[in-house]
Amino acid sequence: MSPESNVENNTTNPAFSLQGKLALITGGGSGIGFYIAQAMVASGARVVITGRREDVLQESVSKLGPAAAYVQNDITDLQGIPNLVDHIESTHGPVDILVNNAGINMKKYALEVTDEDFDRVVQTNLHAVFSLTRECGKKMVARKSGSILMITSMAALYGIDRVVAYTASKSAIGGMVKALTTEFSPYNVRVNAIAPGFIETPMMLTAMNGDISRRDKAMDRTPMQRWGKPEDIGWASVFLSSPAAQFITGVTLPVDGGNSIGF
Ligand code: NDP
Repeated sequence: MSPESNVENNTTNPAFSLQGKLALITGGGSGIGFYIAQAMVASGARVVITGRREDVLQESVSKLGPAAAYVQNDITDLQGIPNLVDHIESTHGPVDILVNNAGINMKKYALEVTDEDFDRVVQTNLHAVFSLTRECGKKMVARKSGSILMITSMAALYGIDRVVAYTASKSAIGGMVKALTTEFSPYNVRVNAIAPGFIETPMMLTAMNGDISRRDKAMDRTPMQRWGKPEDIGWASVFLSSPAAQFITGVTLPVDGGNSIGF
């Protein structure tokens, strides 16, 4: 299109729409996951959210409206994942978009982290993500269509003290994105990640946990000089899952107010 062409002002540009798509969002009942669900519904998608607390899921679905449904699920039950995906697809239709959002953190000095501690974080943030991605991936590859989104962290981009298990799990996800991209791309299945900066959610506020120097350090290196809002991650998720991003795969997009490049 030449610069002189007239472009119709179209507020419902289909390139940025998720109309007709079904998104599965783990941990979609609270925090960032809820705002991802909200942004996707606002962009035309239907969503299925998962999590362990049924009351939280119920309340979120009532806020999200008729385009949302929930399935109570503990994502660390790896053996149940094939059934989970089959159940969602038979009840709601093909999953077009998978958002691996559910995650846990643990703040402890590395020398105090037990094998059980380490395993618990890695089980949720890494093993479960792989198993769910593999099961959804089988169906997406067969259909030659799909978008998979991981939620990583600044901890995957630079060193942060007292989060060794979390950092190991999120860094591994960055590698998984690259490896899966090489295998899934021929089947038109895209795999990307968002690395949120410091986003105001219960998880982030707990991690800061009255630790003023940690809080100041994070804010000092954020050029935009504010915490992120969960909806900032929601809108970026919509973009990466939309047709507008159809040639974007294998990337980790920082959504961080400049934190990852801040001095
Ligand atoms: P929250 O603790 O607010 O939410 C985490 C969500 O994950 C909850 O809905 C929780 O639901 C769900 N969840 C946790 N464990 C499981 C499980 N075993 N099975 C199913 N669901 C589970 O965290 P955030 O919203 O802050 O974090 C969301 C993602 O964003 C995480 O992956 C996190 O690492 C990442 N992130 C967050 C940042 C921030 O600043 N907030 C920064 C960087 C990354 P339930 O407890 O009911 O199971």
